[in-house]
Amino acid sequence: MNIDFEAGIKNIGDTAKLKSVFERAQKGEVLTIAFLGGSITQGSLASEPSLCYAARVFAWWEETFPKARFTYINAGIGATDSQFGCARAAEDVLKYKPDVISVEYAVNDENNDHYRETYEGVVRKLLSARNHPAVYTFFNVCYDTGLSAEEKHLEIAKYYNIPAFSIKSTIYPLLTSGKIQNRDITPDDLHPNDTGHEMVASVITYGLEKIMGLEKTGTVKGGKELLEEGEKEGHILPPPITANAYEDSVRYRNQNADIVFCDGWTADGEVQEHITDIFKNGWTAGKKGAKIAFKVRGTCIGVQYRRTINLPAPVAVVRVDGLEKAVLDGNFDETWGDKLCLDTVLDHGKGGEHIVEIEITEAHEDDKLPFYLVSVIASGNPEPVFLKPAFAHTIWGGKRLREDYGYDEPGDDIGECWGISAHRSGECTVSGGSFDGMGLSKLYETHPELFGRVISGGENKKADSSASGDVFPLLIKIIDAKADLSIQVHPDDEYAAKNENGSLGKTECWYVLDCAEDSTLVIGHNAKNKAELEDMIRGGKWSEFIRQIPVKKGDFIQIDPGTVHAIKGGILLLETQQSSDITYRVYDYDRLQNGKPRQLHIDKSIDVITVPAKSVDESVKNFLDTPENTLTRMYSCKYYTVSKVKVKGEFSFENDAPFLNVSVLSGAGEIDGFKLKKGDHFILPAGYSKPVFKGGMELIVSRI
Ligand code: ZN
Repeated sequence: MNIDFEAGIKNIGDTAKLKSVFERAQKGEVLTIAFLGGSITQGSLASEPSLCYAARVFAWWEETFPKARFTYINAGIGATDSQFGCARAAEDVLKYKPDVISVEYAVNDENNDHYRETYEGVVRKLLSARNHPAVYTFFNVCYDTGLSAEEKHLEIAKYYNIPAFSIKSTIYPLLTSGKIQNRDITPDDLHPNDTGHEMVASVITYGLEKIMGLEKTGTVKGGKELLEEGEKEGHILPPPITANAYEDSVRYRNQNADIVFCDGWTADGEVQEHITDIFKNGWTAGKKGAKIAFKVRGTCIGVQYRRTINLPAPVAVVRVDGLEKAVLDGNFDETWGDKLCLDTVLDHGKGGEHIVEIEITEAHEDDKLPFYLVSVIASGNPEPVFLKPAFAHTIWGGKRLREDYGYDEPGDDIGECWGISAHRSGECTVSGGSFDGMGLSKLYETHPELFGRVISGGENKKADSSASGDVFPLLIKIIDAKADLSIQVHPDDEYAAKNENGSLGKTECWYVLDCAEDSTLVIGHNAKNKAELEDMIRGGKWSEFIRQIPVKKGDFIQIDPGTVHAIKGGILLLETQQSSDITYRVYDYDRLQNGKPRQLHIDKSIDVITVPAKSVDESVKNFLDTPENTLTRMYSCKYYTVSKVKVKGEFSFENDAPFLNVSVLSGAGEIDGFKLKKGDHFILPAGYSKPVFKGGMELIVSRI
């Protein structure tokens, strides 16, 4: 048979990882080769396990590298898709730290966007394993119809630069051209027989040999260097091209489920001997009305159950948060065996907590087996991203950020705590969770989905990242002014773009956290027109020029570009601003820093100051006493909306922001089980649609 092997190579990809495994095999190292997929991988319809394609490809490794020692992991489970693959990859494959992983789901997944997303999830899950395995994929095909998920899967394989081989382009044409008969290689047009498995294996080993003969290509390094780099940088993958809810999936069985109600169901505690021993560790029920309910967290939820060929069997319904979502029919009118079904019952719904209830609605006297509920799988559960602040030491700073807010920062000149910042002058890093240690700018760049940013596809990625919206847009600071800050003004976007190398301008606002009794701020000025403004500034008539206004705790002040402003000594405030540091200093009280006056920007200041200034009444509003458990909006402009929340007991709200910045001003409590205290700053990522706060706290919340 003349198989056109070259036609089967759909993507050579980045060969460096496989090449480094070949080198290690050549040296005689100990290596693990894993195969993840469905029934074909499992070896279904091969006359014995050693004749399935996976065992044959494994044999190729052993024959090609006689000095090496190999371990074979076959993680194929019949009739399962890449959605289940996401949920079981860690347990069934990654725990063995495989050096090479073959992944195959093209006939169990359908060629649609749901499976494009779940397939991306499993590929990312495998690629982000700590030991950086080499991953390749191939696409089986239905031998009668030619259908497969190859198109959607190949898009993902190309984006992640992994080698990909096609059965549709190699073996299938032999059938359509009549060179061989379907029944020569497959009894059911889906599962290959021994000959079919041999042919599938030959397509894969041809691809591996081809890669072996090529130069190393691509930028992905292999082995140890990559491991070290990966550990340093946290994640090394490009941003996902789907909503990527499935990469992190949690599968609940009776060892780990949070059961809130159970009547008439029995937990199956029998030991699961092998991964294909699929009907274990779930729950059974045989009586109409039997009910079980779970608490899970996520935006996507699937329910796994058994459909049996032993008819009749009971039927159940699934409700999510009280609404019926699916009927689970335990009857399977086929001959080839009981089937493990996975039905999606919530597809990109709200994040946070859900109650999943399963009730038997139909049972029969002569049911052969009870209904078997295998697991509930929850995916896409965003977690708050907690940040480790950066600090600025300044001539006007004090000790209150340490003493009042508990920040572990030495010195008695701590002026600013940058609580939420991706700005290069003081960047926060993620503290805890999946992205522990990663800089916020890197997180924003590599995980746009967390910030509600859509990247439309691999090829468009570059265009997107060069767009001006590609920096984290806001910066949240707590400022402790022991002494007066200089009097300054910021340009708007247009002026900054023209005069500051394309930088953003700066709009900011302040919420006064605390201040001495007779505190004042400088907001605006007293010049009535441009000529008077120039005269006052150039003539140094500061007492005439500056407008000083009294402030008290809870005051909110919006500082538009062009507004002359200064924080005076004795004031502690939280600032929400555009992420920019373009500041024009108008006057610095003739102070010296390291023996020299700090630079002033008189001409630019005169250019940008708004004349006459906004009235005092328009500038300051007090929000000290806001209603409890309410999101009280303090200000909204095109850059941000800033709100205040007083949590007492429990408070939750519907959140549709692309992401939400939260700072804890006072008190303590928790959000969805994560402990919170005064001085904490965190981001609620996209999809976090219903945060639940508990305790007694004041929060400042901002969104774009
Ligand atoms: Zn400012």
